Amino acid sequence: MIIDILTLFPESFSYLNASILKRAQESGIIKINIIDIRQFSQDKHKKCDDYPFGGGAGMLMTVQPIYDCAKSVMKENSKIIFASPSGRVLSPSLAQQLSKEEHLIFICGHYEGVDQRVIELLKPMEISIGDYVLTGGELPTMVIIDCLSRFIDGVIAKESLSEESFSSNNLEYPQYTRPQNFMGLQVPEVLVSGNHQEVEKWRKEKSEEITKARRPDLKTKEE
Ligand code: SAM
Repeated sequence: MIIDILTLFPESFSYLNASILKRAQESGIIKINIIDIRQFSQDKHKKCDDYPFGGGAGMLMTVQPIYDCAKSVMKENSKIIFASPSGRVLSPSLAQQLSKEEHLIFICGHYEGVDQRVIELLKPMEISIGDYVLTGGELPTMVIIDCLSRFIDGVIAKESLSEESFSSNNLEYPQYTRPQNFMGLQVPEVLVSGNHQEVEKWRKEKSEEITKARRPDLKTKEE
């Protein structure tokens, strides 16, 4: 998969060059390009924002640099995504759907957002990462990329996905690793019993218990 990220702040993306996403790029499963929108500005001072018509607080990103930047990377099979609080909320099934695309282009809004003509002209899919507002689309873009990458073959082990929180409308059971005793706190006996059936049963029960207590809404949730 090729991912092009269009941003005014290319320095924000070091997270993508660590750990699992770094490995995915090194092995050629995903290729991520970060493109500075500012270099496409036709303004003589490379300005990319302006005051909103009608007044109001803050600045808006102007349409021309974003439009030209997007056009420079768009291909027939490209899917454009704009991280936006007004978008459809990110979910595992949406991430899985996006993981099948060949080319994703992410537009990162900043300040008060973007001129609406960016949306009208480029018709991106708008995706929200939750009901709160961040200062820019850089973090939401990384959240979406991280989440969808986990569904691409070879990025993480398949079993990790099937047992994870939300995979069957449940939260995950508690997990433990060495040492077996830390400051008097023992790992539950069943997990060191070697009885796989009992381990499975315990995990299922814990998962149900935690989901019921913390997120009963998940039980009735439809995508
Ligand atoms: N004025 C906008 C509003 O009220 O919806 C918020 C603009 S926000 C300060 C700047 C940019 O951050 C947005 O254009 C969007 O790209 C990104 N952003 C902020 N919160 C987000 C969220 N919850 N999900 C996705 N993107 C978000």
